[in-house]
Amino acid sequence: MRSLSTLDELRKTRFSLDGTVGLVPTMGFLHDGHLSLIRRARDECDHVIVSIFVNPTQFGPKEDLAKYPRDLERDLRLIEPLTDLVWTPSAEIMYPTGYQTWVEVEAVARPLEGAMRPGHFKGVTTVVAKLFNAVQPHKAYFGQKDAQQVAVIRQMVRDLNFPIEIVVCPTTREPDGLAMSSRNVYLDAEQRQAATVLFRSLSAAKELFEAGERDAEKLRGKMKEVLASEPLTEPQYVSCADYDTLEELTEIKGKALLSMAVFIGKTRLIDNFVLG
Ligand code: AMP
Repeated sequence: MRSLSTLDELRKTRFSLDGTVGLVPTMGFLHDGHLSLIRRARDECDHVIVSIFVNPTQFGPKEDLAKYPRDLERDLRLIEPLTDLVWTPSAEIMYPTGYQTWVEVEAVARPLEGAMRPGHFKGVTTVVAKLFNAVQPHKAYFGQKDAQQVAVIRQMVRDLNFPIEIVVCPTTREPDGLAMSSRNVYLDAEQRQAATVLFRSLSAAKELFEAGERDAEKLRGKMKEVLASEPLTEPQYVSCADYDTLEELTEIKGKALLSMAVFIGKTRLIDNFVLG
């Protein structure tokens, strides 16, 4: 595995590669969820490029950029057997002095995470567009764990004609259902236990759906009821929305997304299930 940081080195090396290239963008502090994306890319492409970059522009002023967990040495050890090339650009490479160009998706980036984290998706789409331009992959791999991110990136790829296939991989979970996340390390033992309530709440709503319930408000009510049973949690939003537009539903007719953001102490966790 080659490890590069400058754009010139990346370009030179990337264009020396024959065959298909898969890109897995990450912010590092890798876990099995990230590795599942890399393995899928390994299975489907001739070459796998992983980027590790904690993108400052997708963090709000009150968010955890400075204390976002990092361990580059461990990350490199984990991906070594699965990856041809890892790109670890600095913030100066991605956003040099005088930087002033942004990519912004409109409607689908507005609700849910977009409403709670103003500017977040503008940072995400800008950095992903820059990664796509730098690496020019055939396929790029993203996790269903960040469902709205997938919807926003798909929209960007359609609107800006990126000739890249977006591959969405299922959410990897701990044995008790908690979705793997770099942020889970912030949880103490009691909070970690409480954090299973996201999975339990989504599962309860899905059970109602499978029993025939199509009233979206009833599913939102069930998720809120289960979350309320766990005193350490403070829900930020609970949603039952159209899978593509992310608009809140009254009645579920096609594919829907159940999603939520919940604070446990100072840690903000998100999770989702797809219905239908
Ligand atoms: P991050 O490093 O958090 O920006 O995540 C990098 C990529 O890994 C994104 O496409 C995420 O959606 C994906 N990812 C993060 N956690 C998981 C998980 N538990 N299962 C599957 N994919 C994940």
